[in-house]
Amino acid sequence: MNRRIPIYEGKAKQLFEGPEPGTLIQHFKDDATAFNNAKKGVINGKGVINNRISEYLMLKLNEIGIPTHFIRTLNMREQLVKTVEIVPLEVIVRNVAAGSFSTRFGVEEGAQLPYPIIEFCLKSDKLGDPIVAPEIVIAFQWAQPNELEDITSMALRINDFLSGLFLGVGIKLIDFKIEFGRHYEGNTVQIILADEISPDCCRLWDLKTGEKMDKDRFRRDLGKVEEAYREVARRLGVLPGESDTPVKTKSQIQKKPAILSKAKKSVIKKKRK
Ligand code: UDP
Repeated sequence: MNRRIPIYEGKAKQLFEGPEPGTLIQHFKDDATAFNNAKKGVINGKGVINNRISEYLMLKLNEIGIPTHFIRTLNMREQLVKTVEIVPLEVIVRNVAAGSFSTRFGVEEGAQLPYPIIEFCLKSDKLGDPIVAPEIVIAFQWAQPNELEDITSMALRINDFLSGLFLGVGIKLIDFKIEFGRHYEGNTVQIILADEISPDCCRLWDLKTGEKMDKDRFRRDLGKVEEAYREVARRLGVLPGESDTPVKTKSQIQKKPAILSKAKKSVIKKKRK
């Protein structure tokens, strides 16, 4: 059996050395933590689902020109990713007030924000991921000014794209956290999207009922945690073990063209013969 070299173990993921230079294997665990590790638990099957959801969203983002670390899925819980130097920031994008934002500013959870708001937090468990102003990020060289510009514009594009994508499957994207890394290739360095995008780091509310479909179910002991993660995957059409075809809305089903293309007709004719 191949012994793999562990590189890093986080709360929900583990990184191993990849098969080729410049690659890593990202392994998704079922472990869940909240409140800076104060609450710990297991969400059965979460790793498998987050692997699929993150793969799907990273590929979609890549299609609109967002560079990401994702290379390919290796198995149910693992994906091959590009090695990056992580920018030590948690980039939070908010469309609707919730969580710590609501608490800090006394804004009711669920209040629509007038425009998307970006917050940077320093990645430091020891300090409890404090919010940092861009000025401080630059002063301490956690990111260069041009890198912060790239991160901000990519974060807003990602937000626009994901908001629309989730809306299409009946889910409202309330807020999310993403991370970026520096990818070195030859003499060039590029900021690319890293880490993961999954219900672990997004707030996703059912469009009709407002029901929470994300890690808040675990954080707040709301129950049906596994079910919520599975439902997000199902709506995106990536539930493991099911077809990759996204769930069709009523209008999509009705719009299905009744007329077959010439090519399809000729195939049918040939088969009949
Ligand atoms: N988030 C995350 N990891 C963190 C902190 C926040 O993925 O360490 C996500 C969280 O799931 C939510 C968004 O970032 O979608 C905003 O979180 P918030 O600042 O409201 O913190 P929380 O209420 O989770 O403490």
